[in-house]
Amino acid sequence: MVIEDVLHRPLLDLRISVTDRCNMRCRYCMPREHFDEDHEFLPKEDILRFEEIARVVQALIPHGLRKVRLTGGEPLLRRDLHELVRQLRECSSDLDIAITSNGLLLKKQLKKLHDAGLSRVTISLDALDENIYQSMGDTDASPSIVLEAIDAVEKIGLPIKVNTVVKKDVNDNQILAMVNEFGPRKIPVRFIEYMDVGSTNDWNLDHVVSAKAMRSLLEQELGPLESNKPLHTSDVAKVYTTPDGWKVGFIESITNPFCGNCSRARLSANGSVYTCLFTNHGHDVRGILRMDGSPEDITRAIQSIWIKRSDRYSEERTNQTTKIKVEMSYIGG
Ligand code: SAM
Ligand code: SF4
Ligand code: SF4
Repeated sequence: MVIEDVLHRPLLDLRISVTDRCNMRCRYCMPREHFDEDHEFLPKEDILRFEEIARVVQALIPHGLRKVRLTGGEPLLRRDLHELVRQLRECSSDLDIAITSNGLLLKKQLKKLHDAGLSRVTISLDALDENIYQSMGDTDASPSIVLEAIDAVEKIGLPIKVNTVVKKDVNDNQILAMVNEFGPRKIPVRFIEYMDVGSTNDWNLDHVVSAKAMRSLLEQELGPLESNKPLHTSDVAKVYTTPDGWKVGFIESITNPFCGNCSRARLSANGSVYTCLFTNHGHDVRGILRMDGSPEDITRAIQSIWIKRSDRYSEERTNQTTKIKVEMSYIGG
């Protein structure tokens, strides 16, 4: 039986944060002044083991779970992540197993992930220009490493998308270059409106470039964009086709929120379930896992969390950001 919340939204997708650590310090996500050597990351013993994550997924599949996304922090900092993919694939041959990664460690791990049964890859890349990439990600790494990883994913034959967070006057001059780079290769780029996640990135509405503004910029250069029909109601990106047949997506969490169809739960690295990206309250399930709870115990616990869910933060958002919210690197983007 499918599990539905108060607003009749089924639990179909689970985003799994496998670590709260990262090898980048993107200014909009983990600003270095907050995530420095004094920051207390989760201790190792608090982090869910792969077997524990697989038990959660296994318990939810009979109730309609169809997709998981491995994220973080940077999921590939768990070097044996392919082992988790293998265990998840054993749960179901139909499960859609995706990963969101900054791509810096992907090339080395790709074959093992592919062999283990990974379904698709999303790579985050905010700029092609090296200076902009390095300043936005607060990193010394070169975007060429990410481009090589993208080449490798293409070569191995896994479906791939590129995610770009757009911040006004920081990387909005990269929008056209990104589409020109990936459009002809049939790699969809999805531009994400900069969001007020967490409490450390000093978010302000003035830093947001609306998807509408991004589209008009692209239309001036490429010609009219044609809107595509969504494949699933729970799709987060609005997809358009350029006159050359290239796909471009927009994740309009600020200007056109999509809470009405939100079927995503999040599992934090230390085993709490969060019902919304913007909540500050998680529900512990690690206790049940570590007390050898049965699949029924796990399902019952998550069901009792989900059926009380009424979150629609993005639809209710105001410009005030004083509420303390959980960080995206911890809860899983
Ligand atoms: N480290 C991995 C990566 O960057 O792909 C996975 C985790 S990251 C939190 C997941 C996604 O969240 C990335 O695509 C990132 O760009 C996006 N993200 C992080 N902070 C954001 C913000 N303030 N607004 C919009 N998107 C954000
Ligand atoms: Fe790390 Fe991803 Fe956050 Fe950037 S967006 S700091 S790569 S978790
Ligand atoms: Fe889902 Fe919360 Fe985002 Fe709305 S704000 S789409 S409920 S995660």
